[in-house]
Order: sequence, then C-alpha cells, then structure tokens
Amino acid sequence: DNLDESKSTPKVKENKIDPTIKYSNERGSDKEHLYIVVIGHVDAGKSTLMGHLLCELGVVSQRTLHKYEQESKKIGKQSFMYAWVLDETGEERVRGITMDVGKAQFETKTKKVIILDAPGHADFIPNMITGAGQADVALLVVDATRGEFESGFELGGQTREHALLVRSLGVSQLAVAVNKLDTTNWSQERFNVIVKKLKLFLKQAGFKDSDVTFVPCSGLTGDNLVKPSNEAELLNWYTGPTLLDVIDKFNVPERPVSKPMRMSINDVYKGTGSGFCVAGRIENGIVNKGDKVLVCPSKEMAEVRNIAINELSTNIAFAGDQVAITLSGVEMQNVSIGYILSDSVNQVPVTSRFEARLVVFNVKVPITKGYPVLLHHQSLIESAHIRKLKALLNKSTGEMIKKKPRCLGNNSVAVVDIEVCRPICIERYKDVKELGRVMLRVSGVTIAAGLVTEIYTD
Ligand code: GDP
Repeated sequence: DNLDESKSTPKVKENKIDPTIKYSNERGSDKEHLYIVVIGHVDAGKSTLMGHLLCELGVVSQRTLHKYEQESKKIGKQSFMYAWVLDETGEERVRGITMDVGKAQFETKTKKVIILDAPGHADFIPNMITGAGQADVALLVVDATRGEFESGFELGGQTREHALLVRSLGVSQLAVAVNKLDTTNWSQERFNVIVKKLKLFLKQAGFKDSDVTFVPCSGLTGDNLVKPSNEAELLNWYTGPTLLDVIDKFNVPERPVSKPMRMSINDVYKGTGSGFCVAGRIENGIVNKGDKVLVCPSKEMAEVRNIAINELSTNIAFAGDQVAITLSGVEMQNVSIGYILSDSVNQVPVTSRFEARLVVFNVKVPITKGYPVLLHHQSLIESAHIRKLKALLNKSTGEMIKKKPRCLGNNSVAVVDIEVCRPICIERYKDVKELGRVMLRVSGVTIAAGLVTEIYTD
C-alpha cells in the first residue's frame, strides 16, 4: 500500500456495516461487551472482591490459585491470594495495593464484562481517570466494617471523590458492593445505615436512584458475589440479586458506530512484528484493517496494519472496543499517550483554547482568572489555566446567576474558558461525549470536572 494515496481527493469513508445491526453479532458473538471500572477507598476490598469473583467464575485456573495461596502464606498475608488475581506485578504484591489499571474479564448470562481495575490510593487517581474514562458502568466497593465505612466516606476518604469522578466522566449506572459485611455478622441495620448515607450523596452527585443498586456481600468469604449466600443472618433479610446478577442487568450504552472514527490512545509500544502498536478505546465509528488514519494533534497520516482485540487479530473494530492497533507510516516517537487516532476526512478538532461548563468540587483557594491547573482529558495530562470566568450558573436550573464572576468557590457551576499550554484534540460534549469531558487537578486533588461547550480555532 502506498501512503501517498491519502494525498489524492479524499472520499468520505463509508462504514462497512449497517449501524442499526447489533454490532457484536457481526463478530459472531452474541454477548455485548460491557466495560466496568471498580472504584472505592483503599482497602475497601476491591481487589479481593474482583479476584474472588473471577475465581468463582472459573476464569482463574486452580493451578494459578494454588500458587497464589502458597505465596501468600509464605509472606503471612493469606487473605491477599484473591487480590493477586488482578495485581500481577511483584511491586504491587509487596506494597499490597493495586497500582495500575489492570484488566481482566468474565462473562455473565448476557454480557462479556471487561474489568478496568482502579487503584485506591489518592496519588493513583490519574490512573483511575484513565480507567473510568473508558468505563460504561462502575462498581463502587465500600467497607461496611464499623468505623471503616465512615473513614472512607467522610472527609479525606476516596469514596466520594471516586463517585464524583466517575459520574463526571459520564458513568451513570452504579452497583454498590456493601462489602465485608461478614465483619458485622451480616447486620441489616448496618447495611441500611450505609445505604441511606450513600443514597443521599449519590443523588447529589448526579446518579438517579433507579440507576444505583446496593448489594450486601463479602469479597473474602465470597457470599453473594456469584451465588446467593448461605448465611442465615443475611438470608433473614436479603433475598435480592447477587453482585453478578446486578452486573448482568446493567444496560450497555449505545455505541456511536456511525460517527467519524476516533480512538483515544492510552498506550504506545513496540509490537512483535514491523511497525508499532497503539492501544486504547474506539470512542466513535469503525476502524478497518488497511484504513488510513490521522494521528492527532500532530496530524500525521498512518496506516492501520493490524487490529487486535484481546490479543486476537480482527479486520474491523467498533466504537466501544478496546483495541491494539499496529500502525505504519509514522515514527513511534511521534506518537504519545493521550493522542487521538482520527478519521482522515472528518478530523478531530485540535485547539489550545476551549469553553467548558465546570463543576467545582474541592478548591482550597477560589478559582480566579489565570488559575493554573493540570488538565486531564482521556489519558492526556497537560498544564493549563483558566483564561476567563464567563458566567456563574444556578446548580439545579443551569440559569445564569452572574456574568463574569470574580471567583468560583466549592460546589459552584460556571462557564469558563480554558487555555492549554499546547494544542490538544478535543470535541464538544454534544458531538462526542467521550472526548468532550475534562478534569482539572491541582496538587494531586481533583478540583473540578467540565464538559466542553465550545472550541476556539487557534
Ligand atoms: P483494595 O485496596 O480495595 O483492593 O482492598 P484489598 O482487596 O487489598 O483488601 C484490603 C484488606 O481487606 C485485605 O487485608 C483483605 O484481606 C481484607 N478484606 C477484603 N475483603 C474482605 C471481606 O469481604 N471481609 C473481610 N473480613 N476482610 C476483607
């Protein structure tokens, strides 16, 4: 193939399938893909719970499990064996925490579920944003142990920040695992207290009551994860679904397959053959083997030499798929994490200035003109500043309260202009949801989330 072809008159690429056909059937699989991110305070039991779930579903071999059991006995932390199913690197094991967005998958009756695991430590939130940015739904794990729920939920804990983050990244459906309920002897009263507090908060964070399901469970004993519990104390008052049932009932969001192709790149690496690989999620549209695509914001033309989903080669990938694409025609050092692969005709906008509707969560000093931030957009992190404060809005009605406010405090909603230190690929939220959201962070704390409302051409 000759890359110069791309210089001839561009033709609008026709998508090769009818977008009204359920796309997963095109690949011969009848199960829809669902991406789930696991969030919650450090030590809430996220890794243990997901590890146990995977073991019960038979995803992990007996041999591997046995190995983990032996190893964990050796270091005297036997309860860690399940957590290791997800935490594969030695460093994570020694530290006993989940560091990166690890991936694992399992199947329910109707779905193939891909886990984007999330770390619990505050300094790992940038990694979590990467996971949450790709998630369709979230599983929030809270520790029901007396005192622990409170410290994870009240000031300083990550429960609130994680829930706010995933909501502002577009996740609207949530399962809440009220975990470690074994430590309270399966107390209904304890469960109810936690549900009541969380319900109120989640509603304020923008989750609809009907999109949130609470499940009492224990990641350690495995109760109510895949099979209903045998615990008499729990059976006395709970006859609802298991965690697996709740995950199976999530709605898979509609995949925008008929829009121009966009893929956000969250990893760049040397593959085994020629060329190199970029990994990430197809946010919009379809990509075919052999397609000419633009690497943005640098706008270099490249060719798709191979597409792999879960390490299996395929000719076509659709919006919603996590893929690894082998590229040729560009130098690997010219492609970075946070870049976007774009349809070569209907290109992704590239700019350093845009307008956003911000929700401010957590600022020590009110935001004023010139306020410096770190902008997170998908996997991209860039220095930026607030260029203009344009309007302060009423939180519930969205009406303007004040033009050109002098400053923005906690819990305010406002329209601002943001300037990034260099051009980035960004879309208006109404055009491409996934590329129209930003997060602002200062000194390791997420201070605001925003939706892109206008893009200025440089
Ligand atoms: P993560 O930081 O959220 O991934 O939490 P881990 O899965 O590493 O678990 C933290 C600690 O809580 C470990 O010591 C686990 O053994 C313990 N743990 C996890 N789940 C449960 C549970 O359901 N019941 C009890 N009693 N302990 C648990």
